[in-house]
Amino acid sequence: MTRIAIGGWQHETNTFATIRADYPAFASADEWPGLQTGAQMIDSVRDVHLPIAGAIQALEENGCDIVPLLWCAATPCSYVTEQAFEQISAEFLDQLESALPVDAIYLDLHGAMVCEHHEDGEGELLARIRGIVGDSLPIFASLDLHANVTAKMVEHATVLDIYRTYPHVDMAETGYRVTRFLCQHLEQPRQICKGFRQVDFLIPLNTGCTLIEPCKTLYRELPDLLTDQVPSVSFACGFHLSDIHDVGPSVVAYGYDQADVDNAVSTLAGNISARQPDFHEKIWPVDQGIAEAKSIISKSGGTVVIADTQDNPGGGGAGDTIGVLRAMVEQGLENALIGVINDEVVADMAHQAGIGAALELEIGGRAGIAGQDTFSCRATVVNLSDGRFTATGPMYRGAHMEISATALLKIEEILVVVCGKAVQTADQEFFRHLGIEPGDMDYVAVKSSVHFRNDFEQLASKILVVSAPGEVYADPAALEYHKIRPDIEITAMA
Ligand SMILES: [Zn+2]
Repeated sequence: MTRIAIGGWQHETNTFATIRADYPAFASADEWPGLQTGAQMIDSVRDVHLPIAGAIQALEENGCDIVPLLWCAATPCSYVTEQAFEQISAEFLDQLESALPVDAIYLDLHGAMVCEHHEDGEGELLARIRGIVGDSLPIFASLDLHANVTAKMVEHATVLDIYRTYPHVDMAETGYRVTRFLCQHLEQPRQICKGFRQVDFLIPLNTGCTLIEPCKTLYRELPDLLTDQVPSVSFACGFHLSDIHDVGPSVVAYGYDQADVDNAVSTLAGNISARQPDFHEKIWPVDQGIAEAKSIISKSGGTVVIADTQDNPGGGGAGDTIGVLRAMVEQGLENALIGVINDEVVADMAHQAGIGAALELEIGGRAGIAGQDTFSCRATVVNLSDGRFTATGPMYRGAHMEISATALLKIEEILVVVCGKAVQTADQEFFRHLGIEPGDMDYVAVKSSVHFRNDFEQLASKILVVSAPGEVYADPAALEYHKIRPDIEITAMA
């Protein structure tokens, strides 16, 4: 029976953020499972919307013997510490060495991991794996749409295939697609040609959303480039919050004829460059955004969803800045909801005090981000949970959330969800598991840039993206880069 080793390691590194990813960040569960090895790894990811779950499905359909290695992920933040990278890399390679011989490897990687001692975390991991298995073993990997793809990754992986949606609702589908390609390759081995090109301008994070132009059209038309000769073509928007040489968008393609592969790369890269002026999105300064939300509700009702994009834990935000909460309170919003604010101290206080208790609080601003303060207020404890629930939206579908002790507070006329972890509010269950129906509210503020859209768009009469303090800087032109390629253009948001 064909033996396929599978594993994964996901981290999106915002080098402009403060908090670093240490080993416990990967070992513990949050939105995704904690670090897993062996048979337990298969059980923990099988029914979750992850690339590796799609890969498992494809391998089972093809009757392969699945050899689990290691899977882990940490919430996006600053650099992966040298200690974490080296320890996890050693565990990964130990698992691989004891699994050999295998016929091929599938890897569920992100593509924007930056370590304290290596700019290209995935490239380094792939090189180490190559060093063990030799040049000819097929290594197929899926990458996140926000991958900053490098020549080193392309060199050491046989094939890289990349999500086509942001919000990432095709993670499992991408894992399935690339693993099907792997199985076909093992049945009929042929020389695979590679094509790779980096695009020479940065795509701001918010503008990579595939529900809006220009990515909506670019990704919808991408499959038109696929042929029998070029069965894999991908476009990564890149992750502009990494100050590294290889930051930015890129195109990869794989097939059986080098000229055809090169043509696919040129066409797609040309299509992307032609849309460069269109990568913009309106982002409201927070006070203006909240005023606009009030105006919309007074005129036409409905539910306005407010995205606190710069404190999005999915992009490396600490999840604990209070700029949006403060503006909501100061402008007197009623029937309003905000979450999830990362404040373990407040969540624990609420649990100790119990439902119905009144508290004097200092909320948020504890992550040590320069210039960030706490918000002093009086709050009532409305509800409590242990932070364990199952996600139901398209992004986190099936994920067993473990977000630690969680509290629903009421501050003035605003309901506030607080827990002890930085989590991206991309699923209505963050609120619903506490008895709140977001669609019943006039205002719902979430700590997310784009991923919230799939689950919240259905209830939103209007979405406003606001810029409040946080480390997921929406405008690349506001950042001071030191290591990027001199020829890459920094796109301004406005
Ligand atoms: Zn992503």
